Amino acid sequence: MNSIWELDTFYRKRDIIIIGAGFSGLWTAISIKEKYPEKSVLIIERNTIPLGASTRNAGFACFGSLTEVIADSEKMGWEKTLELVTMRFNGLQKIQHYFKHDEIDFELNGGYEIVNTEEPLTQIDAVNKKLKTITGLDQTYTLKQNKIKEFGLGKSEFLIENPCEGGLHSGKLVQKLLEKCHELKIEFLFGTEVQNIEETDKVEVQLSTDLSVIADQLIYCTNAFTSKFLEKENIIPARGQVLLTEPVDGLKLKGTFHYDEGYYYFRNIGNRILLGGGRNQDFKTEETTAFETTEFLQNHLENFLKEVILPHKDFKIALRWSGIMAMGEEKSPIVKQFSERQFCAVRLSGMGVALAPKIGEMMAEMI
Ligand SMILES: Cc1cc2nc3c(=O)[nH]c(=O)nc-3n(C[C@H](O)[C@H](O)[C@H](O)COP(=O)(O)OP(=O)(O)OC[C@H]3O[C@@H](n4cnc5c(N)ncnc54)[C@H](O)[C@@H]3O)c2cc1C
Repeated sequence: MNSIWELDTFYRKRDIIIIGAGFSGLWTAISIKEKYPEKSVLIIERNTIPLGASTRNAGFACFGSLTEVIADSEKMGWEKTLELVTMRFNGLQKIQHYFKHDEIDFELNGGYEIVNTEEPLTQIDAVNKKLKTITGLDQTYTLKQNKIKEFGLGKSEFLIENPCEGGLHSGKLVQKLLEKCHELKIEFLFGTEVQNIEETDKVEVQLSTDLSVIADQLIYCTNAFTSKFLEKENIIPARGQVLLTEPVDGLKLKGTFHYDEGYYYFRNIGNRILLGGGRNQDFKTEETTAFETTEFLQNHLENFLKEVILPHKDFKIALRWSGIMAMGEEKSPIVKQFSERQFCAVRLSGMGVALAPKIGEMMAEMI
């Protein structure tokens, strides 16, 4: 049993409880507290640090490569596509407004997409025109063939540059967001898994058989792990595997790179290479919430490293890890109220760095 001291403090009733301390949960809490300073906000996180996608990703501060924007427009139409690009573009501006570049290792080195067919190139001008109202640039995407050699890339026919893209340090961003939360007196229960939810004239958040916390409103920011609670939502877990090399002598490559419609992504971190992806080689196995790496995909990524990123160079792998994203039939995140007192901001796909700041604002408007 708990003591009166614990029940009066850590487990007391709150105005709002958020489940999940990834980018979504943290930005949501910040936006709510900024709009409603008098409301008490508690974030419940099952792990000792946020552990899902936010501390496991590649740290691309990106809003969509050329082929991705084209593919989205074909699937969702231009209106929805531009809405999503705007959200992500504004999200990146917001991150830079809140935190100094050196606090989160934000480097605006430009983003690149490698494409091996000519088709997308024929659409560059049309897409640039559409994006001008968002980025303010005449040419958001430009062909930069000379950089293929400069960066030493193999198996790359065309290279498209986007100067608005950058990279950042996801761990440092999460830490800065946590600092901001503490400043705003947002409270936390780490290492605490939510087991069950019951809604009546309040929401009861069950932490174990004999312990629960009450709230007026509840927000799920559980991304890929949401199906346990919201079975009806279309949320498919997608594991992303990553590797990081030891420092590479004379590395010239700088920036964030997308390949094969974004299924592969790589960047430099100083003079190391971080490479992730390849999910399209083994979709079924990667549709999981298990934090593991597989020999098959790691070997595949190493091969990709040899053939595309570091041809003719020696390298050693320093680290391998995986994280879990949330995908769905539709690309858009699910940000909504689904009962009198419950809300969700989930399914951030592979773009949560840029999306989460705006999703937080949307949630603060909704509650
Ligand atoms: C390998 C990889 C590379 C990626 N690269 C990029 C990139 O370069 N750029 C980019 O923008 N995006 C990238 N993404 C996507 C991005 O990381 C995600 O969109 C974003 O982090 C999602 O944030 P979130 O807060 O919604 O989810 P998460 O960070 O997964 O947070 C959800 C949290 O909920 C907690 N939780 C779940 N269930 C419970 C429960 N029952 N009780 C309590 N807590 C619970 C989890 O422990 C977790 O901490 C990548 C993702 C991966 C996996």
